Amino acid sequence: MTHLSSDFQNEELPNRARIVAQGRAWTNLIDGKFEPAASGRTLEMLCPSDGRPFCTIACSGPEDVNRAVDAARTAFEQSSWSKMTATERGRLLHRLSQLVMENFEELAALESRDTGKPLRQGEADITATARYFEYYAGAADKVHGETIPLPGGFTALTVREPYGVVASIIPWNYPAQIMGRVVGAALAMGNTLVIKPAEDACLSILRIAELAHDAGFPKGVLNVVTGLGEEAGALLSSHPDLDYMTFTGSPEVGTLIQRAAAGNHIGCTLELGGKSPQILFGDADLDAAMPVITNAIIQNAGQTCSAGSRLLVQQNLWDEVLERLKTRFEALIADRHDANADLGPLVTRNQAERVAGFMALAEDAGIPVLAAGTIAEDAPQGGYYAAPTLFGPVPSQSVLAQEEVFGPVLSMIAFSDEEDAIKLANGTPYGLVAGVWTGDAARSMRLARAVRAGQVYVNGYGAGGGVELPFGGFKKSGHGREKGFEGLYEFSATKTIVLNHG
Ligand code: ADP
Repeated sequence: MTHLSSDFQNEELPNRARIVAQGRAWTNLIDGKFEPAASGRTLEMLCPSDGRPFCTIACSGPEDVNRAVDAARTAFEQSSWSKMTATERGRLLHRLSQLVMENFEELAALESRDTGKPLRQGEADITATARYFEYYAGAADKVHGETIPLPGGFTALTVREPYGVVASIIPWNYPAQIMGRVVGAALAMGNTLVIKPAEDACLSILRIAELAHDAGFPKGVLNVVTGLGEEAGALLSSHPDLDYMTFTGSPEVGTLIQRAAAGNHIGCTLELGGKSPQILFGDADLDAAMPVITNAIIQNAGQTCSAGSRLLVQQNLWDEVLERLKTRFEALIADRHDANADLGPLVTRNQAERVAGFMALAEDAGIPVLAAGTIAEDAPQGGYYAAPTLFGPVPSQSVLAQEEVFGPVLSMIAFSDEEDAIKLANGTPYGLVAGVWTGDAARSMRLARAVRAGQVYVNGYGAGGGVELPFGGFKKSGHGREKGFEGLYEFSATKTIVLNHG
């Protein structure tokens, strides 16, 4: 471990990322230049499949963060970017989308190795990332204002303007996709960006930033500084020269981000996870529902904000659903990322320990394990694997039913009727996504309206990346919306112009 700068006194470094003196180094991208942290410090990246180091990233400190914000400020106020038309910004994003697809295999393999997700999932993520750039490329010059009728010889109109310098703190579960939705929308709107990716997985973000550089974005428009959350992340989020901030991650860190935003009187978008219910009524098409319900909890080994982690089953269907899910869960295999199994390892040792802790707690509380998958026999010993597990019946107030496990753990809970289902669905602090499975159209709409969640799917779950669909939370799942046009507007402020023409 190297010596830490005097500005960073925290001795309690997480074990998920170790500071090392040197190594094969990925660098920051600041003001169009690729460079190591000013201190020379690096973090060693460990492959989740075997726990072995495979490269390093820059461990940024105050100097790097300050330079990145300064570069973004200069680019916003003084570079060709500030004069560029929305159509031209859209063209650059379109070029970036093309470059992502031209480098598809490399990016998918990188994302898969870095996060541990099966290659198949890495590929889906890169396709979605390119689609974000494509979508916002097309949207850039379709942002319209309003004219507002006023009495007495005035005409009023509104225009949407970029905030300016936006900071974005990104988690490790979907680095490329989350970068896609932030970069696509924020740059289409004309802002400049400083991204602080997660120290646990961030290589696709660095590579895509390099592609953005190749696509021709002016220097300073998109800056990436890697490093520890409690150092680089905290420095960036409290930087006094920011105009807006976005964060996706844990509720605990979300609180810190919102406090930092308040300190600078700026707004922020927070996406803080969920405990999303899938509600299965007696009249549902079980053949259609079972594979979707299973996938919604094992995708990315359950490390998905919108994972369908609670299955609410109408009581009379319990035995049949259990039998079907048991067969499915017992066939599931977790294996290394490049084996392309049903699921890969969890991202870090910390995360694997956290998930194991939830499972131990459930078993101590006497909650039965109804079914479990397996970890491949030849999966490397040092990897961070968790077998997919179905628990039930899970008491609705238990930790397992209330807290986000962020692992392949599904809680099965019985309900009696519609009213009971709604009560249970809304009975957690979260409200991100919900699924309703029923053959009754009127019931599906009643449920969709009654459930407090930012997205509700009827007879399905998730929608092919959902680039076009506003996404975000009710309650403690956060505030603000990403994706779609709402996500674009989120990165803008409305200016009202009033003309007195007598
Ligand atoms: P998780 O608990 O799932 O690892 P976190 O919320 O800790 O998720 O991390 C999400 C992002 O927030 C990462 O980029 C991480 O580096 C960053 N982060 C962690 N702690 C802080 C902090 N104190 N201030 C700002 N960013 C932070």
